[in-house]
Amino acid sequence: MNDHGSTVDAAETAGTLAATLPDAVRAAVSLPDSTTTVQAIDPMLATTAAGWLKVESSALCGTDLDLYQQGLGHPTVMGHHVIGEIVSLSPVMQWSWDVEVGDRVALEEYLPCGLATCDACSKPDVYRFCPDADLWGGQRRVGMLGIQEGSGLHGGNAEYMELSTRTVLHRLPRDLDSNLAAWTQPFANAVDWVVNIGGATSGSRVAIIGPGYHGVAAVAAARAVGAQEIVVLGRNSRTSRDRLEIAEAMGASIIVNDDPRLTSAALGRHGQGGGFDVIVDTVGLGGPALQTTEHLRKLGRLVLAGLGDTPVAEVNLKTLVRGASGVVGVRGRSPEAVTRSIELLAAGDTGLEHVPSIDVGLEGVDELFRTLLDRTGPSSPHVVVRPSL
Ligand SMILES: [Zn+2]
Ligand SMILES: [Zn+2]
Repeated sequence: MNDHGSTVDAAETAGTLAATLPDAVRAAVSLPDSTTTVQAIDPMLATTAAGWLKVESSALCGTDLDLYQQGLGHPTVMGHHVIGEIVSLSPVMQWSWDVEVGDRVALEEYLPCGLATCDACSKPDVYRFCPDADLWGGQRRVGMLGIQEGSGLHGGNAEYMELSTRTVLHRLPRDLDSNLAAWTQPFANAVDWVVNIGGATSGSRVAIIGPGYHGVAAVAAARAVGAQEIVVLGRNSRTSRDRLEIAEAMGASIIVNDDPRLTSAALGRHGQGGGFDVIVDTVGLGGPALQTTEHLRKLGRLVLAGLGDTPVAEVNLKTLVRGASGVVGVRGRSPEAVTRSIELLAAGDTGLEHVPSIDVGLEGVDELFRTLLDRTGPSSPHVVVRPSL
């Protein structure tokens, strides 16, 4: 679609699609100096929109905080765990997504190139590794494109958001509780890490390092498959203790350990010393996480969901070979994990209903980022931007 005629068509289509939106869409625009202001944006500036989403919620995760703190490359409407209702849609996307105006959907953050020549995009489950959509590559992701592109409304921290032909979305049940719906993406990550990759199943013993956003979601994932025991390790800070309490309310037993180097020893002291089938490091402990392989049961898995500051660390190969156990790194989930996440959330009793939701409107985004970064903010890991507030 590079010839002049189709570019004009795309702009016309984009204008038609934006016609039903308000003249000015309110958006929280995050700036390179790590502040956020609410601005009114004209949606008619969109040139390539394939549809529009009315944003219901946009949950904040650790990646948002990291990007914000490092300093964004350009002013950006952030927010990449987005739930909303489709309010306009091009006919071709209606057909290819199999959704309609009025449908409630969850977006994935990836905006993969979709080309048949792309090694990642030519396989159904691997598009999330498309170099274009990579966090450390092209960064074509929801909540990361700058406001200079089209309408600039490419993230969830706004009343409305542009959908592109690259958008990946999943339909959500209309009656799914809004607090639970906001868990769709992180819970999907946890299902992928704990169940699909970690191999947790009924009767498994699961240890989770870190009681944060993904740690709490991992408790829910272990619960969902009927794990026999779930242990969560956290630090002795105000935030961590509050989060450990949440994990406890979800049925996990907890370990407070303030020295990351003693993580393995703390795990070893817990329980009957029978070891764990799955250990998930959600914080990126590095070397100390690798030491926990000594507490894996036969065929166990240590799942590394973070890198921290330690890109190189030693592992005891004797333990791994003798136990036929493994260490695996993970990233954002597979699309099937999103489907499973939605099914489990709709079925109820994930335990995530025990997690208090901290809801803020667009005007609250600046303070929210500031207080989360200086650690004076809310301790619940479930922080959700709701543009309608
Ligand atoms: Zn995220
Ligand atoms: Zn690609």
